[in-house]
Amino acid sequence: MSLEAFRTETRAWLEDNCPESMRTPMPADEYPGGGRRAQFKNADTEVWMRRCAEKGFTVPTWPTAYGGAGLDVDQAKILRQEMARIKARAPLVGMGLSMIGPALLEFGTEEQKAEHLPKIASGAIWWCQGYSEPNSGSDLASLQTRAVDDGDEYVINGQKIWTSGADRADWIFCLVRTDPNAPKHNGITFILFDMDQPGVSVKPIKLISGLSPFCETFFEDARALKKNVVGKVNEGWTVAKRLLQYERTMIGGGDGPSTRVSVAEVAKQYVGLEAGKIADPALRQEIIQHAMDDRSFGLTVRRTSEESKSTKAPSFVSSMFKLYGTEQNKLRSELLLKSMGSQMLGWEGNGFDADELDATRAWLRTKANSIEGGTSEVQLNIIAKRVLSLPD
Ligand SMILES: Cc1cc2nc3c(=O)[nH]c(=O)nc-3n(C[C@H](O)[C@H](O)[C@H](O)COP(=O)(O)OP(=O)(O)OC[C@H]3O[C@@H](n4cnc5c(N)ncnc54)[C@H](O)[C@@H]3O)c2cc1C
Repeated sequence: MSLEAFRTETRAWLEDNCPESMRTPMPADEYPGGGRRAQFKNADTEVWMRRCAEKGFTVPTWPTAYGGAGLDVDQAKILRQEMARIKARAPLVGMGLSMIGPALLEFGTEEQKAEHLPKIASGAIWWCQGYSEPNSGSDLASLQTRAVDDGDEYVINGQKIWTSGADRADWIFCLVRTDPNAPKHNGITFILFDMDQPGVSVKPIKLISGLSPFCETFFEDARALKKNVVGKVNEGWTVAKRLLQYERTMIGGGDGPSTRVSVAEVAKQYVGLEAGKIADPALRQEIIQHAMDDRSFGLTVRRTSEESKSTKAPSFVSSMFKLYGTEQNKLRSELLLKSMGSQMLGWEGNGFDADELDATRAWLRTKANSIEGGTSEVQLNIIAKRVLSLPD
């Protein structure tokens, strides 16, 4: 099929299948995540997720055998453009889609791919990430969670922290130490296991906002089947690093369809207009600069992903995208705050509408962007060493 024919067909499918309420910006407290315990505030969220999953559009570039649509890079780009055209929300989000899925496509056995990928694509299983520990964050390779060989299984003891969504996750992809005597980067294994078992318990960490986006996760004789080791035993660091590159590319953003409100439109609404322009010239200048930088960043991300068509996998350059993309995202929130003024400082009660309360929470949430997935300082270290080849 020609690309033009593909565009026509995709446009028609989206028109017929994307519910009207899915063509609006996503509220801060809502996301299309699946899993055994999925709860959908808006029934259309589930309808949209299911329709896209049936079409393979939750993971458009994955092979059809694993629940994808088997699109090539150009077709996937057209799909993104057509979704952006109608301001369609992402049909499904989560670490399954953006992190463990791509890692399994690259490192998984055929059996692992056949078992786990279709359940990610359909939104049946929600995943969480067991990397950080109380004493191992930036220095992740110092992790101490221990896995001991027991026949067909490993027995796992230890603690993870900051495990996003662990309280509603079905499965975890986890870094465990299988050889305590090896140098720290060597004795680590990357393993998958079901959270729904007696040896796993989670304790949500309550934030000042009252929300608990992440948890402490405890393993007391938890069990994982050996067939769920991804990559080789004691060589999990290779898989772990690649998964972080997928994570950083995702957090950095830059190339996805944007359903976010435009900062300029918000500023026009709150600051007002003078001769058709945002009334505050200094703010106007900052917003224009941010919009130009955003556009350049998006084009750079796209160019890089098209240049790496042959390898398909991200590289250490993902650290540059993570660093820059998260700073841009934080700046965007600051500009919204400057535009909305005290209307973006509401937490609850009268005097603020739902969008304003969402904006306050979204602004606070952006502060974590430059910490999650590795801090900005860690990205700078990686860029210095791995991209610029500077000495230690
Ligand atoms: C919203 C959010 C969600 C998260 N979700 C998950 C999750 O699902 N799963 C998971 O495993 N983890 C998760 N994390 C944890 C995250 O990966 C860690 O917080 C992060 O890697 C930093 O580790 P740390 O918190 O232990 O900080 P530390 O490593 O203690 O760092 C403290 C400070 O020291 C600086 N620093 C440390 N080492 C260096 C160095 N070598 N050079 C320069 N500066 C340095 C850091 O930049 C930071 O400013 C999440 C974090 C956040 C904020």
